[in-house]
Amino acid sequence: MGTDSFLIDTDFDTGADAAGLCEFIDASPSPFHACATVAARLTAAGFTEIVETDPWPREPGRYLLRRAGSLVAWVSAGDDPTRPFRVIGAHTDSPNLRIKQHPDAERAGWQMVGLEPYGGALVATWLDRDLGVSGRLAVRTDAGVEHRLVRIDDPVLRVPQLAIHLAEERGQFKLDPQRHLDAVWGLGAAPESFIGHLAAQAGVAESAVLGWEVMTHDLTPSAVTGVSGELVSAPRLDNLATCYAGLEAFLSAADRAAAGETTADPVLVLFDHEEVGSMSERGAFSDLLTSTLERTVLARDGDREDYLRALAGSLTVSGDMAHATHPNHAERHEPAHRIVAGGGPVLKVNQNLRYASDATGAAAYAAACDKAGVPLQRYVHRADLPCGSTIGPIAASRTGIVTVDVGAPQLAMHSARELMAAADVPMYAASLAAVLV
Ligand code: ZN
Repeated sequence: MGTDSFLIDTDFDTGADAAGLCEFIDASPSPFHACATVAARLTAAGFTEIVETDPWPREPGRYLLRRAGSLVAWVSAGDDPTRPFRVIGAHTDSPNLRIKQHPDAERAGWQMVGLEPYGGALVATWLDRDLGVSGRLAVRTDAGVEHRLVRIDDPVLRVPQLAIHLAEERGQFKLDPQRHLDAVWGLGAAPESFIGHLAAQAGVAESAVLGWEVMTHDLTPSAVTGVSGELVSAPRLDNLATCYAGLEAFLSAADRAAAGETTADPVLVLFDHEEVGSMSERGAFSDLLTSTLERTVLARDGDREDYLRALAGSLTVSGDMAHATHPNHAERHEPAHRIVAGGGPVLKVNQNLRYASDATGAAAYAAACDKAGVPLQRYVHRADLPCGSTIGPIAASRTGIVTVDVGAPQLAMHSARELMAAADVPMYAASLAAVLV
């Protein structure tokens, strides 16, 4: 399917496209950077960032808050405390290789940096790539502990493969995450510690760095590829493609919500830690979404009853990427549920609730796709393969809100380099925009 062989209702055309997605991904090598990228876009669109330790704003308006690698944004459009929410959810984290606490080592004349996998990374895809480093440092200052984003886009690290001649069985070498994923940083004795190197990049003394969450990223820029520019080749499509589409959808709905043209308040929630189970103060299991929604109700002089009434009328669309049918491995897919790249967004259904979608949520999303003029594909995993999961079932059980799991088709999920169709970017964003209005 070419890039102009679909028709988006112009009311829901968000302006999202493949080039915008590439720019968004390249600006966002870590969950902290993804939140900074989103926050900058929202702030430019008139959103005010608030801090959870401050009193909640009582005036209607556009707001966002961050908890480290997670972010919530919402438009508070009126003073009815029972007004429902339309929530778009996604996750900011992606599988990768992260820096250990004592990373420095010297082995066989090489300067090494200790790495370990985060989430279900396809670790072989991380080998022989020029890697940069990004994340955040917790730094001691006169005012207390402050967090500093750090990002190095020089090719400082590399995890070299074992030569084929040295493998026990050629081409069959199995990677051990403890022994085989440390990165080469240089030769001989290190002039400084790796954390000292990061500290210098951040302009602070190494002794001031008290904690860090730092990870590697492939330095190859995202690209529009394919014979007619119909593909997007990029890292972290799972799930920055949804963060991007959700952000564009949310921004397009914000004006209409603020003008009182929507029946529900739009909310965008982007969670960290989905790839490792969501169990943290900022993951989908946390109170990040529920406390934000409840405090917006309380700020309208509502009470617990009003909050529960608002939730009962709400809807969450949980966006995470979906598996396009793989051309070289078509037998790994459910044969009656082929998913076509460029064929439009995907409704994800699983009878064992690895996805939250039920008939009510499915109907809401199908109706939104219809409104936006984009085709909808329906995904079911093979019954003889274990199905992945996402934030949908977790957010649904935490909030009691009807939730539907959706996504855009891609190949090579959890690879350092993933692939999707350019045409799915605007269609996915349009479908999410139609959910919000
Ligand atoms: Zn995902």
